[in-house]
Amino acid sequence: MDDERKTQQLNHLAALGRVLSAEEKAGFDGSALPEGLGAYLRDWLRQGRDMGLSLDLLGSLADQLSNYSLLVREARRTRVPKALAALRQTYRELRDGPAPAGEPPAGAPARAAKRPAAPPAAKEEPAAPAPARKKAAARTPRRSPAPLPGLALDTPLEQAPGVRFDYLRSLKKLGLETIRDLLYHFPRRYDDYTSTRPIHALMYGSTETIVATVDHVETRRSAGGRNIITVRVRDDTGTLSAVWFNQPFLLKSLRVGMRVVLSGRVGQYRGRLTLESPEWEPYDDELIHTGRLVPVYPLSGNLRPRGMRRLVKRTVDTWAGRVPDPLPPTVRERAGLWDLAQALRQIHFPDDPESLVQARRRLAFDEFLLIQIGVLQRKREWQAEPGRPLPTDHDLLARFLADLPFALTGAQQRVLEQLLTDIARPVPMSRLLQGDVGSGKTVVAAAAMLMAVANGKQAAIMAPTEILAEQHERTIGRLVAGLEVAGRPSASAVTTVGEEWKEEDPARARRLAELKKLVGVAADKAPAGQVRVALLTGSLKARQKRELRQAIADGQVDIVVGTHALIQEDVAFADLGMAVIDEQHRFGVVQRQQLHQKGFNPHLLVMTATPIPRTLALTLHGDLDVGIIDEMPPGRQPISTRWLANAERQRAYDFIRKQVQEGRQAFVICPLVEESDKIEAAAAVEEFHRLQSEVFADLKLDLLHGRMSGPEKERIMRAFRDGETQVLVSTPVVEVGIDVPNATVMMVEGAERFGLSQLHQFRGRVGRGEHASYCILLATSDELGSERLKAIEETEDGFALAEIDLELRGPGEFFGTRQSGMPDLKVAKLGDTRLLDLARREAEAILADDPALSKPQHAVLKERVAAFWSQGMEVS
Ligand code: ADP
Ligand code: MG
Repeated sequence: MDDERKTQQLNHLAALGRVLSAEEKAGFDGSALPEGLGAYLRDWLRQGRDMGLSLDLLGSLADQLSNYSLLVREARRTRVPKALAALRQTYRELRDGPAPAGEPPAGAPARAAKRPAAPPAAKEEPAAPAPARKKAAARTPRRSPAPLPGLALDTPLEQAPGVRFDYLRSLKKLGLETIRDLLYHFPRRYDDYTSTRPIHALMYGSTETIVATVDHVETRRSAGGRNIITVRVRDDTGTLSAVWFNQPFLLKSLRVGMRVVLSGRVGQYRGRLTLESPEWEPYDDELIHTGRLVPVYPLSGNLRPRGMRRLVKRTVDTWAGRVPDPLPPTVRERAGLWDLAQALRQIHFPDDPESLVQARRRLAFDEFLLIQIGVLQRKREWQAEPGRPLPTDHDLLARFLADLPFALTGAQQRVLEQLLTDIARPVPMSRLLQGDVGSGKTVVAAAAMLMAVANGKQAAIMAPTEILAEQHERTIGRLVAGLEVAGRPSASAVTTVGEEWKEEDPARARRLAELKKLVGVAADKAPAGQVRVALLTGSLKARQKRELRQAIADGQVDIVVGTHALIQEDVAFADLGMAVIDEQHRFGVVQRQQLHQKGFNPHLLVMTATPIPRTLALTLHGDLDVGIIDEMPPGRQPISTRWLANAERQRAYDFIRKQVQEGRQAFVICPLVEESDKIEAAAAVEEFHRLQSEVFADLKLDLLHGRMSGPEKERIMRAFRDGETQVLVSTPVVEVGIDVPNATVMMVEGAERFGLSQLHQFRGRVGRGEHASYCILLATSDELGSERLKAIEETEDGFALAEIDLELRGPGEFFGTRQSGMPDLKVAKLGDTRLLDLARREAEAILADDPALSKPQHAVLKERVAAFWSQGMEVS
């Protein structure tokens, strides 16, 4: 809008403002104007309308102030301030308003007055008077401009003008609650109706757009009772019919003589070329349903494509220019991104494919940036307080490595060096260690934990199940057995304390004896400085638990291995220097934080065997530094992977039987059932009975599924590990995260339904001992030979498979639908490494300059980050 007009409007607003202020000062006695307020107001309103001030504002002022002379003082006292507030609001918005070039004229507001709810602006809003505004609203010019005061982006749709009441439920079903939601409800796809053709050039079977005039409209019933509307249209080159079925309401809008645009597929009807149920709209300079890239929105309930498109169009027209841009201009320029208003308009109604690309790029960048700022802030928080450096005890480390029955692989050495460097710094480590199943993460973690112990601190490692915890305790106990930690301050003291108890107090002596059982290495037998490892799980007896907790609190245990029990509130450490979380995907950020709080800023290491593509890792675990063990220890048994068609199942059974006869064991994984644990468990039960009675009647089978209690699962896994059962039938939800070196066959039913990463995880459960191992994947025959299935046969590299998976299935399915924890990305594609990297860099730059986002140019960004991360997502 031009500046002159704006100035005129501002002055006009100010004039009435001054009058009302004077009236207020004078105590509402009507003395502000000699000629009386009523006459002045009438003139003022008329001029205001001529100047283009919003009818809404004018209407509300009229409601407030007409017949002023007749109002009692009480009424004046409430109405004048309200009118003033509306004036001030409009004035401010007009003055500061964004109204970028091309925006409709400013000066609209006033809806303020009657919309009490509007969140952010609400404080300054007058309460909410004035009925009769319905009419004023209708008169408001369609492309009304300035923010409707009192209406904000977060205004619920039921309070937004122009949203049909009967749409509200359907919109809600789509998760659309506010104006902003609607603005960010992006098309699912676009129909390309850009190329218009003359009628005589239309081709059968193609999708075309024509501009033509309605010649004739006819309606009839088909034999089957369907309503059929046939419309003949004409352009300079010929005539054509368009046919719609069961849309009788079209009769009201399609009238003879009307210029229309029609887009749709050219079919034939009774031997003539015909447009079949085309999209159409009156020919206009702004087409939204035809003749362009037409957005196709996700719908629900009674929403129809056209209604939805119109609703979005109106919303975009009114609001796109009013969304505060979270990106500081410097970032936008540096990254070469469109401004937000343009991006929002173009993603809904793109001018051309290139605009769509730019719009998407901008909006995807925003999503990545919000995520990156969130995770980086978390990292900063984590590292805000100083950590305690744990310098490497080289002598001890050398002895540890020398005692190992194997040499570390190159990848293990590299990662161990990373870890040791991390923990030697006065900043708490937060690192994610990725490594395929069996790549040897435990020994690396143990070495780092040992350094904590060498520095007089405690270390803890948390595993998702009791058996895994037991396995760790045994492994780590073995790894550190016989190692003497020189100069560990508390070592000998503890032994002495133990001796004292024995002499002093029989109760304490009992306690010490108990402790000896709990703590891997008995304090009195071990030389001073021996590393003491203990196992803390939920199934310890109450008294044992109590005493172990006491020992941990007293610093009599160096390395605590445990399950969730570790992070329970009553477990306190004397001095926790390092915390390790194994199988990170089972634990979320919350657990991480709980473990963190057990120490004074302990160094944190999280480990996962699920290879995560880098982009996903940056998103889900962007607050962690990433280390990768990408090499397997030498001498691993190769696992041969074979696909079989379902019809060949018997061969798989024969093979399993043969292996079992040779003394080996096998897993059978039942198909994935998405609906529920319950159905899945039921299916597994059935399969188990079938196998036990019909296929392997002479073998010992067992069953594992997700509806079993924790202890029950543990018991079954233990029995399998100890060779008591030969074939374990299991649902996929139950992860069999444990070493069973004697198991050599992994058979997966319905393998086509799993992601490659998941299949790879299953496969990793065998081949852990000295015997050659096999993975048999059963799939429908048409899936056999597909790229996906070939990929897993041919590659053993979990990361490569993860990348393929992500590419083929997208992030939602990457982890299986039940546990993604993925933030909701509407536009961003995780495969877009470059944009993600760009966002990461910009996030780092922004936070380096303004860690708390407290500078004014980051205010909107800060608010958006907060909103994004409060969507109830729990990134783990
Ligand atoms: P994961 O990374 O899956 O946790 P583990 O730490 O359980 O793997 O290691 C798997 C097995 O490999 C263990 O039995 C471990 O002793 C063995 N291992 C680890 N590193 C090596 C190595 N460098 N050479 C040979 N065997 C190793
Ligand atoms: Mg492991």
